[in-house]
Amino acid sequence: MDAPLLRQECFIGGTWQSGPDQLDVCNPADDALLGTVPLLDKASIHRAIDAAEQALPGWAVRTAADRAAVLMRLHGLMLSHLEELASILTAEQGKPLAEARDEIRYGASYIEWFAEEAKRAYGEIIPSPAADRRLFVLRQPVGVVAAITPWNFPCAMIARKIAPALAAGCTIIVKPAEQTPFSALALAALAEQAGVPPGVLNVVTGDAAMIGAELTASPVVRKLSFTGSTRIGALLYEQCAPTIKKLSLELGGNAPFIVFDDADLDAAVAGAIAAKFRNAGQTCVCANRILVQDGIHDRFVAAFADAVRALPVGRGDCDGVRVGPLIDDRAAARLESLIADALEQGAELVAGGERLPGSLRMFTPAVLQGVTSKMLCAQDEIFAPLAPIMRFAREADAIALANDTPAGLAAYLFTRDAARQWRMTEALEAGMVGVNTGAISSAVSPFGGVKLSGLGREGSRHGLDDYMELKTMWLAA
Ligand code: ADP
Repeated sequence: MDAPLLRQECFIGGTWQSGPDQLDVCNPADDALLGTVPLLDKASIHRAIDAAEQALPGWAVRTAADRAAVLMRLHGLMLSHLEELASILTAEQGKPLAEARDEIRYGASYIEWFAEEAKRAYGEIIPSPAADRRLFVLRQPVGVVAAITPWNFPCAMIARKIAPALAAGCTIIVKPAEQTPFSALALAALAEQAGVPPGVLNVVTGDAAMIGAELTASPVVRKLSFTGSTRIGALLYEQCAPTIKKLSLELGGNAPFIVFDDADLDAAVAGAIAAKFRNAGQTCVCANRILVQDGIHDRFVAAFADAVRALPVGRGDCDGVRVGPLIDDRAAARLESLIADALEQGAELVAGGERLPGSLRMFTPAVLQGVTSKMLCAQDEIFAPLAPIMRFAREADAIALANDTPAGLAAYLFTRDAARQWRMTEALEAGMVGVNTGAISSAVSPFGGVKLSGLGREGSRHGLDDYMELKTMWLAA
């Protein structure tokens, strides 16, 4: 691959560093070796923490406009290197190139958004309760931040952490997923070009458990921002307790996608395709359970299954492909076991569900009907191109089914009834609700969940709050 941004070293304190041991990074489409990254030792992780600590005062003291200018240069560089970044992303992650390009634009939009928000991190003057006192609230950066990110959005999940961190005046150490470190290192290379000072952004690779333990144990690290599984999120929550770190956790979902009798059928089908099959079903806001009301059920299943059968499956770098490979063999085996479990318990396979002949881990997108709450695919986050359809009769049944999960990230509903749109939105236990749309992500809107789906919000004007502390000043006049 001709990609000068494909860096095989870590970025610590403004220098590129190798190590004695390496980790292989392979293309999930064919297992071809793309390169290696260092398996860093503990001492290197501490060098990164030290570098971030040393860079903090100099970065925090710069004006917001100054930090914003650096971020805007990074934004520009991401867009001018869009093709290269997208091809690195598709090579290590597998998603179709068109989706990889969208992800780079989406990631860049967070950099731009928080560059703008940096300049609006206003404090407050509070009407004083005493005549001889004045009361002010300052907003200051939290300090050194650690970010641990997943493989499903190797660029955007990092962009939406480094952007608010750097905008707020924090410094950051990023540990990308082991499957997809090259997108993170490419961002670091562009950040260097953009003039991000040494130590302000560091990227480390290696053993996840060791790096997580060192970052969370360090009293220097004042905040952890994690996106990934609920299991690891809970573990990191525990590990952050002794040092009382600020935490942002964006964890797993189990989104209901509810289609009422009065829905626009074509819009519901298009919304379900978008919400289910983006990134081959490997997103935390993917529609996990499709709940369809009796009166529209059969028409929806027929139209949806037709649309699903028309989705081209293949390598992400082939033209026109809509569904790429799964990330690894574990994901492929899990998909097969979820389908087998549902069929055993009486569901019916309406479309897809077959491994593409000769492929390692590409599957024709699957639709199951007759799914019940007892089946694993209704209980667990699927993270694969499988759409389970459940039936319901009344609105109250849909609410009960939808909320019958410990997760609470996204939910979707399709109905033309305006009163029901509000009623449902209020009743659903989720951080984000798409009404008559399957697309709910943007830098301008708060992203995050309730219940076991996490803590905090990324993006929007609230996104900066997670990276800032309030400091109260009492002034005796
Ligand atoms: P997934 O199952 O989707 O890979 P994970 O939660 O395991 O989700 O991974 C998300 C991120 O968490 C990745 O960067 C991964 O390397 C990291 N991770 C995995 N295990 C640990 C751990 N014990 N401590 C810290 N980070 C971890």
